[in-house]
Amino acid sequence: MRKPLVAGNWKMHGTRSENASLLTQLLDRLPEAPAADLMVCPPFVYLQEISRLLKDSDVGLGAQSLCAEPVGAFKGEVSGAMLRDVGCNYVLVGHSERRQFYGENDALVARKFVAAQAAGLVPVLCVGETLDEREGGRTTEVVTRQLDAVLGVSGAGALHSAVIAYEPVWAIGTGRTATPEQAQEVHAMIRARVALADARIAGEVRILYGGSVKASNARELFAMPDIDGGLVGGASLKADEFAQICAAAG
Ligand code: PEP
Repeated sequence: MRKPLVAGNWKMHGTRSENASLLTQLLDRLPEAPAADLMVCPPFVYLQEISRLLKDSDVGLGAQSLCAEPVGAFKGEVSGAMLRDVGCNYVLVGHSERRQFYGENDALVARKFVAAQAAGLVPVLCVGETLDEREGGRTTEVVTRQLDAVLGVSGAGALHSAVIAYEPVWAIGTGRTATPEQAQEVHAMIRARVALADARIAGEVRILYGGSVKASNARELFAMPDIDGGLVGGASLKADEFAQICAAAG
């Protein structure tokens, strides 16, 4: 039985006071023992403070990226060990905004995945196709390529302590959500691909859906057999909305 996970990706939003108010409101709205695992991914500079604010809660902490190298002269970068040091348990790798705006390719994403696990973090590997790729009938090819880049380096066994997030690029921040059936089709394909390498791990790995998840569509998405929760951007910045999404995953 896979326990759902709902992750809030705050991207480059928030101030110290907005974060504190968001978390206070969110923690007030969450049940004492949520049925799903929950976590938030604030910007780097706020991680330590948010780690303190979440100390007595069930909400985990994730970073939005990390350096592929463990230590050294890599100006502006943050290592996995640093993220662990300030209280992170998770880190996103391969998010489409990193691929699109910062040139992160499959090989770099695979190295970041390895670096995350080496530091004791659970990587959330994001995969997904653009609108052109979907309309060109290339969704399976693209998602398989992105997944295989990591499986080729780490092996399917590494997914034992990792999470996959299917995020169609055309649905991120656009308000246009994949239908539950469209999402389920890709999730099932991802699970089948992992099963070719390791059937047990395929049955255990959590595959989140991301792309304009809202309170109004979360329940039907999370009801699909291969959707194990969500990676939520915009809606994670509203306490009420995010709490309802978390409840939908339970
Ligand atoms: C995301 O940033 O990963 C995301 C899915 O964003 P949104 O929910 O705003 O589409």
